[in-house]
Amino acid sequence: MWRFMNGINVSFPEAPGPRSSGNAVPSEGQSPAPAFRVNEIFASINGEGPLTGEAAVFLRLSGCNLHCSYCDTEYARSREQGMLLPVRDIIAEIRRHRGIGNVTLTGGEPLYAKNIGILIAGLLDAGFRINIETNGSIDLRPFMELDPDGRIIFCCDYKLPCSGEENRMYLRNITVLRPWDALKFVIGGQADFDRIAEILKGYDPRCLIYLSPVFGRTDPREIVEKMLSWASSINISRVRVQLQLHKFIWDPYARGV
Ligand code: SF4
Repeated sequence: MWRFMNGINVSFPEAPGPRSSGNAVPSEGQSPAPAFRVNEIFASINGEGPLTGEAAVFLRLSGCNLHCSYCDTEYARSREQGMLLPVRDIIAEIRRHRGIGNVTLTGGEPLYAKNIGILIAGLLDAGFRINIETNGSIDLRPFMELDPDGRIIFCCDYKLPCSGEENRMYLRNITVLRPWDALKFVIGGQADFDRIAEILKGYDPRCLIYLSPVFGRTDPREIVEKMLSWASSINISRVRVQLQLHKFIWDPYARGV
């Protein structure tokens, strides 16, 4: 395992606003070799989402535009943490984990990083399948244009009322997520259940839908019961209850697993 932590004192590129981040291709005059603030890189298994249980190299970028009440990656929220690396060095480090074709791009909020489209394109060019964990506040459509052959899975974590950040959600994402993408809800109380029911009824998303407890706060059995109670009035054919696998295999607060 190899990680970057404890930031190095170099300047961090200016971050974009919360609704757009893409800059998939730099405009003329921009630096040809952008660097990204890498918090850690390690090999593990995906603990949630469509690739649960599959081996993946985790690429965690630092910096987040939200401040959720239950954040379990506070160490990656600051844009000051980690090491600035260009795409080629990031890919070289990922390739040290030989034989693993999945990259999980996470944070923080990875799509908040300026020029992140260049890193995503580089990972695709290098042959990786990418699982992008994103917080629901950033328009995903520019990033989908980078993915004509469906090698990216967007796992969009819709922030419910208990997060304190629901007003930051970019609702149009719900309608553009594709059948192999995922919409994730982390549930902390009754208001969250009510909001999920509204969203499922109102949008009937075509992507996979995952319901998770706020770890240690919500009883997973309550989620199962609620999901079953919706069945007569809401399409739950694409809804799944999930627990974060890594929190049961390792210490729930461990890093780098
Ligand atoms: S979006 Fe993720 S990293 Fe950012 S504050 Fe919320 S839980 Fe933490």
